[in-house]
Amino acid sequence: MTPALEALERLREGNHRFAAGDSNHDARSARTRRDELASSQLPFAAILGCSDSRVPVEIVFDQGLGDLFVIRVAGNIVAPSQIGSIEFAAERFGTRLVVVLGHSRCGAIQATLEQLQRPRENQSRNLHSIVDRIRPSVEGLLATELRHDPETLVQHAGRSNIRASVSHLRHGSPVIEQLVRHDGLLVVGAEYSLETGVVDFFEGVAAAD
Ligand SMILES: [Zn+2]
Repeated sequence: MTPALEALERLREGNHRFAAGDSNHDARSARTRRDELASSQLPFAAILGCSDSRVPVEIVFDQGLGDLFVIRVAGNIVAPSQIGSIEFAAERFGTRLVVVLGHSRCGAIQATLEQLQRPRENQSRNLHSIVDRIRPSVEGLLATELRHDPETLVQHAGRSNIRASVSHLRHGSPVIEQLVRHDGLLVVGAEYSLETGVVDFFEGVAAAD
């Protein structure tokens, strides 16, 4: 089992390599590793990321086969199936670090802000289920001066949504709460910059609030 802080360091180092254009991992040379992993896995971190094609999790953290347990959904939202997936990784594989990875200029955040400002009645019910989960963490911002500055608004809304997902995961199930309290599980938020390739881990990652 990889302790949470050690796992965090591996992710930081991998992202530094990626952002510097110095990645180690090459999927084409993964044959040996694939054979090793066929019967078991011990992913050292679980990542809840956005489906955005520009944020492929293994690539931006420069990790290979078997390293990361990844859940991707538009807007990196937390619904019961995401919570269940995290419980699964933590209990079955001993994964002790969970990262909610949002990113700059997130389309799901933009769509939610648009929907709040100009509601469309014919929006699909399925898409609505994503917007509804993002809405509580961003609608308060529309009552502030930020509403006059679309770019900053999306930036703040994205960060607020990441923090909300972290909080939902930390408190979303008794299993996860127990693991956080007694068994070293760490749930942290982070934001990937489409512009620089750098992942910014949010402050106070060691705090289990
Ligand atoms: Zn996104």
